Order: sequence, then C-alpha cells, then structure tokens
Amino acid sequence: MDTKILKPDDESLAEAKRIIEGGGLVAFPTETVYGLGANAFNEDAVKSIYLVKGRPQDNPLIVHVHKGYDITRIVCDIPDYALKLAEKFQPGPLTIVLKSKGTVSPVVSCGLDTIGIRVPSHEGAQRFLKAVDLPIAAPSANVSKHVSPVTAQHVYADLNGKIPLILDGGKCSGGIESTVLDCTGEIPCILRSGLITREMIAEVAGDCGVFVPKAGEKVRSPGMKYKHYSPNCRTMLFTYEERAKAVEEYIAQSSAGVKACLMCENSVAKEFDVKDVLLLGENGEQFAANLYDKLREGERCYELIIAVAPNERGGVMAGVMNRLTKACGG
Ligand code: AMP
Ligand code: MG
Repeated sequence: MDTKILKPDDESLAEAKRIIEGGGLVAFPTETVYGLGANAFNEDAVKSIYLVKGRPQDNPLIVHVHKGYDITRIVCDIPDYALKLAEKFQPGPLTIVLKSKGTVSPVVSCGLDTIGIRVPSHEGAQRFLKAVDLPIAAPSANVSKHVSPVTAQHVYADLNGKIPLILDGGKCSGGIESTVLDCTGEIPCILRSGLITREMIAEVAGDCGVFVPKAGEKVRSPGMKYKHYSPNCRTMLFTYEERAKAVEEYIAQSSAGVKACLMCENSVAKEFDVKDVLLLGENGEQFAANLYDKLREGERCYELIIAVAPNERGGVMAGVMNRLTKACGG
C-alpha cells in the first residue's frame, strides 16, 4: 500500500472521509501527538488499529470528536464537574473518561464500560473530525511502545506502507499525550498526566485525585503498565542531582567508542561543556514540546541516550517525567 502525506485541504479531507467510511485508517495531527484514527462504530476498523500498531489488546483507545459533536450519543451519566471541565479544557489536551452508552464498539475500550473522550483543538484535527462527523477511535500513530510521533515524517517512519493516508498538520505544539481523567467517580482522578495539570483540574472541579496502581489491584487504565515511548537505542536516566555523574558516564562511554549523547535541559548543557547534546529547553512546556522529537533524533544519530531528569517538578513536569521514565525502560 502506498502511504500518501497530504496537507489537510478540501480534497484530502474528502479522501480521508472516504477512507474512514470504508473502514480504513487515517493518521491525523493533533496539538499533542499524531493520532491513528478509525470509525469508532466500526469494529473491524478499530481492530485493524491494534494490528497495524502491534498494540496489546488490553490497552484502550481514546475517542476523538469535533467540538460540535453531541457526546451523549456515545456516553451517559456525565457528572456536573465533568461538564465544567469539558467547558474549560475542551477543545484541548484533556481526555475525559465517562460511562459508555454501549453504542461504540466495545473493542475501543477493551471491554471496559467507559470511554475516553477527547476534543482536539488542532485546526487540522477539527477539520478532519468535522469532515467525517463520526467519533474517531485513535491511539498515537506509532508502532506500539515506540516514541510517539509529533510530525507527519515520524508517522511515515513507523507506518509507511501500512496505512493509506497521513494528514500533515506540521509539528505538534504540545508534544506529549493528553491528560487522561477518570470522571466516573465522586471526584476526577488522573489516570495519565499531561499538559492539563492536577492543579488546573482542581481549580475547576474543586478536587482532583491521581491514580496510583496498588500491587495486586486490577488496573483501571491497562496502558499504564507497559514499557512505552521508547527509542530504538540504549538509554540511561539520571536524576537532576546526579547530573555530574551523567556527564562522567557520557565521557566514559564516548572514550570507549560508544556514540553517546546527553539529553538534558539547557542550563545543564551550559554548566558542563558537552559536545553531543539533545536540548530539552528551559521549562515544562518546552520539555513536553521537545521530548519525543529529541528521543527520535537520539535514536537516529546515537547508540546511547544519557538523559538527565528535569530540576523542576510538578505541573507539566509530572507528565514529562512519566514519559521520560517509561522511555528509559521504566
Ligand atoms: P494512546 O492513545 O496510545 O496515547 O493511549 C491512550 C491511553 O488512554 C491508554 O493507554 C489508556 O491509558 C487511556 N484510556 C483510553 N480510554 C480509556 C478508558 N476508557 N479508561 C481508562 N483509560 C483509558
Ligand atoms: Mg501511544
């Protein structure tokens, strides 16, 4: 199969609509990462997402809709605080998990009785979702466990020949996946951290929990247990306090002939004079926006990425650290 990369315009969106209606897959841009979309009502189409990505069968997909879509067609029992959060953060990088009405294929949620709903703010995503006017089940558009894609070229590198169309909306501005928020309980509870932080949610909803899987307990969001977001090269992760040790490791590896690089924030690169460096920026938003692009650059150009965790904690860095830890093998 030939994989086309097209800018979202009237012609390519008409083609995307034909593909989706025919049960096929289309990769599309969002403000977080690129998604690999299928009609959520079509069970075979949804199953093919798992096949194409090599995704474990117990890792649920998020359902994406345009901002005018009536979500009561697919979910029910929406608590007041969820309405407030949707009003404030959708469109945007927040996925709200609600009780399923049973109209969407159960394959989407791997048999859970809930559905994660997201309304992306990216203009290309909105145009695509509006054109198809269907709920679109979509995980990130990468081979399972690999680094998530933030450009059309990243999608192409992973899925070339496996899907017919990639809509090219440029580089994703957010850079890490949406915050996934369970809204089926008394208070909202973060299942996956992201750009919408616990502080931002608590300000609107009054309170916000963070889900921590306990040993032996059935995980509510099965995706959380896997190694994830990993580059195809060796990685090492040091804390910010251990940054001098990370630099020593870089020097030792380099002198032993290993093509190594240091992945760190700008100030650490300035503090130590390192030649091979992948700069993550100066704050949480920049770290998130750069992380996957730099991990992909790292695997392309080096044998070993030696990462230094950010100095700052909390806020967006909670999501960044979650991805960085998993990228470096958990
Ligand atoms: P991905 O699209 O690859 O970023 O993965 C989507 C993630 O959203 C999954 O790994 C789950 O953690 C989460 N998710 C999606 N739907 C649900 C749901 N119904 N309940 C809990 N978590 C969900
Ligand atoms: Mg993913």
